[in-house]
Amino acid sequence: MLPLLPLLAGITPVAVTAAGPSACSNITSQLGSTKVTSNELSVNYVESTECWSTLQDAYKPSCVVYPKTAQDVSVALQAIRAAGSRFAIKAGGHNPNTFFSSVDAGVLLDLSSMTEKSYDPDTTLATYQPGGQFGDIYEYYAQYNRTVVGARLAGVGTGLALGGGMSYLSPQYGMSCDSFRELEIVLPDGQIVTASEDSNPDLFFASRGGGGNAYGVVTKYTVQSRPAGEFWAGNLIYAFPQKDNVIEAIGNFIQYNTDPKAAIIGTYEKLGTPDLNLNLDEAIIMFLVYDGPDPGDAFTNFTSITPILDTTGIKTYTEVVNMPIPMSSEISRGPNIFRVGVHRAGDGSYENALDVWRNWAEDNKGKYILLSLDFQPVPKSLTDASKAQGGNAMQMPDGPCYRDLVASTGNAEGLPLFINDANYDQNPLQTFSAFEKLQEIKKKYDPDNFFADKTGGWSFA
Ligand SMILES: Cc1cc2nc3c(=O)[nH]c(=O)nc-3n(C[C@H](O)[C@H](O)[C@H](O)COP(=O)(O)OP(=O)(O)OC[C@H]3O[C@@H](n4cnc5c(N)ncnc54)[C@H](O)[C@@H]3O)c2cc1C
Repeated sequence: MLPLLPLLAGITPVAVTAAGPSACSNITSQLGSTKVTSNELSVNYVESTECWSTLQDAYKPSCVVYPKTAQDVSVALQAIRAAGSRFAIKAGGHNPNTFFSSVDAGVLLDLSSMTEKSYDPDTTLATYQPGGQFGDIYEYYAQYNRTVVGARLAGVGTGLALGGGMSYLSPQYGMSCDSFRELEIVLPDGQIVTASEDSNPDLFFASRGGGGNAYGVVTKYTVQSRPAGEFWAGNLIYAFPQKDNVIEAIGNFIQYNTDPKAAIIGTYEKLGTPDLNLNLDEAIIMFLVYDGPDPGDAFTNFTSITPILDTTGIKTYTEVVNMPIPMSSEISRGPNIFRVGVHRAGDGSYENALDVWRNWAEDNKGKYILLSLDFQPVPKSLTDASKAQGGNAMQMPDGPCYRDLVASTGNAEGLPLFINDANYDQNPLQTFSAFEKLQEIKKKYDPDNFFADKTGGWSFA
């Protein structure tokens, strides 16, 4: 996804207090100075304070902590709690919501040094720590011809899985969180616990799609790995006059495709620059991915519309997650925000979403750099796969439905919003049928509201 950049109101830095520096000096004395930096000019500090949404670039943590183990995280959380400091947990830093993975005058726990990975060929389980990007994780498991269900862009971090996680493999295997088998979690009080179907099953339930930053810090993921061989994949880029044909093809795919190996993202892109009636400010980019070398007729609806560019062909999984071009996630860094809606298939809302989006884009030229409307199918095979593995915190009703990155067309009753693409004010957890259960779990594992008060995250109120 290459979302959209309307600028938000200015950033107001939080007043500096003694709590942050006090937590930092306690952490430094326990973990050693190689795992902590307060030097705002150091390369590490600068990199750690850069998020995908540059709206957060003004924030200055009192220090950045680089834990290597669950024990390090536990020490840091206890010091932060003792000092009464604010803090943030950062994995890939792609959540665009303020203070979700950034902090001003507090402690930034940057998980980027936690990059251990392993694979057990007997069980086919994959275990990885939360640092780094999914692209690195995919490359590691490629040596075993395996992969994990994660981001569709290489540059995104592992926080994605805690928010559900939509992958090109999701129609076959469910959301990323559905493949969780065991999590190591440092609770808000510093205890290190295991969450699985058998151990702290309520915490395991909430961590499967109930969002990061809420119940503790996940320091190790053990997940069911999946085979990764050859893919048929690529982008079809269409000129905008094809918009109605493409939206019809997207609608048909969402409603009628039953091949779980076929996945798409449909994106409509608009530049904020004046167009002078040249019609060069907008394009449609389809992402087509088939798990296998021959897609049969799964994508005929799209390939029968003449594109201006076609990059489809046989690809490795690494190539798939670097479409349309490598570093897409890094290149799209800017003052970004997301908004999301979820709709039922076949309700005619695709055309409406496109019209609403395009009218807004025309009326607001100059207020954004790039505006992107994405259509992402949630087929029945995905919701079936999720249920077959125990279900997740979203308790997803049967597909097909789809989500799009435009909220002004409303949200279908009874469908959970996808928190990974939600704006803070959309209160996605409140749309989950399991919301009350999540509130109880939150109360149990964060009883004195330490996380709720001291770091950003979704509202449980
Ligand atoms: C370019 C781009 C592409 C995307 N593609 C996809 C996609 O294909 N599928 C999809 O579902 N979503 C996608 N998203 C949305 C993405 O899932 C969210 O932005 C997600 O928050 C990114 O996780 P992160 O680790 O990069 O970000 P972060 O901001 O670091 O983490 C997200 C949240 O989880 C918390 N968190 C992270 N790790 C932990 C942990 N170990 N323990 C506790 N809390 C933690 C953080 O504090 C933060 O609040 C995309 C976003 C972007 C910007």
